[in-house]
Amino acid sequence: MSRPDDPSDARVVDIDSVRAEALSCIRCPLARSRTNVVWADGNLDADLLFIGEAPGFHEDQQGIPFVGAAGQLLDRMLAEIGLDRTQAAIVNVLKCRPPGNRDPRPEEIEACKPYLEAQLAHMRPKVIVTLGNFATRFVLEEQIGITRARGRVYERRGAKVVPTFHPAAALRGGRFGGMSPVDAIRADLQTVRHLLDRARAVREPVAAGASAAEPVGATQLGLF
Ligand code: URA
Repeated sequence: MSRPDDPSDARVVDIDSVRAEALSCIRCPLARSRTNVVWADGNLDADLLFIGEAPGFHEDQQGIPFVGAAGQLLDRMLAEIGLDRTQAAIVNVLKCRPPGNRDPRPEEIEACKPYLEAQLAHMRPKVIVTLGNFATRFVLEEQIGITRARGRVYERRGAKVVPTFHPAAALRGGRFGGMSPVDAIRADLQTVRHLLDRARAVREPVAAGASAAEPVGATQLGLF
């Protein structure tokens, strides 16, 4: 619930002005080679946030994250758990494309960090899915590889964090830790579905018939 009078409320982040700043960003040399800054897609007020690595060719052309082959696979897998982009936000660690799709450099991640931090503070998602190594390391703040990180649910920033393979790894095929990336992503998205359902089940009984001003949760718990 947003409380604009409370400065400790992270939602006072003026995400529109942060976005405007990002769209004309020159904090790192990627500003010179990009076509478009790729800010976000989907619903920045959703409970669920997907974080990828960096825009590729198509994303740079269109200014929208995950619109290429990896994005189409992500959309299909989201549909398998009954979701689409209206029910999740999709962002990247880097907002600009590294030339030739090379890996993000530490100084680029550092320069771009305030934008993802602002998106996280604005959204306060219940569930964060980190796609691949770079997003996983950013959120977990650990130098961990995705093969070792996945298969567990972490708690960070008040959210459940589900690391999974990047969909581009699923397109490349192969097997990691005895599992194909596509099977691993599918299994991890089932975990996401379960976590979202649980978060809603906790919230909905409180919301039903309640006025926002009442300490309903506490009353129902018999604390008043
Ligand atoms: N890969 C990413 O990590 N992000 C995109 O937006 C597209 C491909």
